[in-house]
Amino acid sequence: MDHFLYRGGALYAEDVPVSEIAASVGTPFYCYSTATLERHFRLFDEALEGMDHLVCYAMKAASNVAILKTLAALGAGMDVVSGGEYLRAKAAGVPGARIVFSGVGKTEAEMCLALEGGVRQFNVESEPEMEALNRVALDLGKVAPITVRVNPDVDAKTHAKIATGKSENKFGIPISRAREVYAHAARLPGLRVVGIDVHIGSQLTDLEPFRLAYRKVAELCEVLRADGHRIERLDLGGGLGIPYERSNAAPPLPIDYGGMIREELGHLGCEIEIEPGRLIVGNAGIMVSQVIYVKEGEGRDFLILDGAMNDLIRPAMYDAHHDIVPVIEPAPGSENRPYDVVGPVCESGDTFARQRPLPPLRAGDLVAFRSAGAYGAVMSSEYNTRPLIPEVLVKGDQFAVIRRRPTFDEMINRDTIPEWL
Ligand SMILES: *Cc1c(COP(=O)(O)O)cnc(C)c1O
Repeated sequence: MDHFLYRGGALYAEDVPVSEIAASVGTPFYCYSTATLERHFRLFDEALEGMDHLVCYAMKAASNVAILKTLAALGAGMDVVSGGEYLRAKAAGVPGARIVFSGVGKTEAEMCLALEGGVRQFNVESEPEMEALNRVALDLGKVAPITVRVNPDVDAKTHAKIATGKSENKFGIPISRAREVYAHAARLPGLRVVGIDVHIGSQLTDLEPFRLAYRKVAELCEVLRADGHRIERLDLGGGLGIPYERSNAAPPLPIDYGGMIREELGHLGCEIEIEPGRLIVGNAGIMVSQVIYVKEGEGRDFLILDGAMNDLIRPAMYDAHHDIVPVIEPAPGSENRPYDVVGPVCESGDTFARQRPLPPLRAGDLVAFRSAGAYGAVMSSEYNTRPLIPEVLVKGDQFAVIRRRPTFDEMINRDTIPEWL
């Protein structure tokens, strides 16, 4: 459920007409709903009620500091995957004790940053990384709390580009080698083992792959404890999917996910961490764009928008579906017609949808891409020297620009000219 609904024939973001935001900030732009963000965070928090737990928002899904602050105010931790994200979490006021540092290629500079600023744990993904972290921690006179990310070799049954839990993926260490690797970690004085980490992929629409992975984690927990390790924390990653197409069967709910976690892992007495990203912010955001032209092609009509693949790359990158809805509700009985919905970028891949049935649209009309909050703004680029589009946050009847559109001067002046030119 989200807070982007038609009222009196116009699309609203909570209590603000989307067309009013468009008139104020120009198109295209991203718009997020505070109420939806809060609701989704609470669904996870409540799903783990009764267990010692922390919901660490995977901020790579949408990392605007205003979004982080909104979630941090509810007690969210953060899952960060770079030094930049770590600094954003800090800028949002998140204490180090609530920041988990993930990622397959942490640099020593990033380790140093987090050790000095405070960190809940590093989720270590390889033995060379373990050695590096040990060195950095000893140099700083600190001990780094770690989990080791294990790769359970489970098929997440999701898009290949976002599956991370099979042995051919670059993530984690093979679970079959876990005892060896934990023994290695225990010998390094700059590290303190606190738990186990697993994350098998994104946009999972079935609980079974999670269950298989978590069962393997439970077995490993017992084995490692018998080996003498203190396993007090299980980081279960993120990955629960969202309904991108309203017509499809809904993915499992956080409450069912939480119930499954309790069933598989509750008996271990561990603190549970989860790292949802997409489910918290995906349906809390839309991208609003304007029709520039309607072009009649041979056998198909093209809806040419001012938004493009550089603003929302998911269709080009993951063949993702986004529902597209007109900001003015179509008149009852108006008949849909098929459009190819495209952007102005000079690539055929700049296509949001092919032969998508939509009500008749004209130049100047506004459309909204639903479910665009996650992996939207954060993956945008300035390809074709198109400015990064603004982000807007709505709360009740208020809205605020939380990242403004840069000027062309700002963009061009970032280039510097060598003295020989
Ligand atoms: C991307 C990622 C997540 C979040 O995944 P979602 O599908 O957005 O919930 C969580 N943990 C790790 C380690 C990740 O890389």
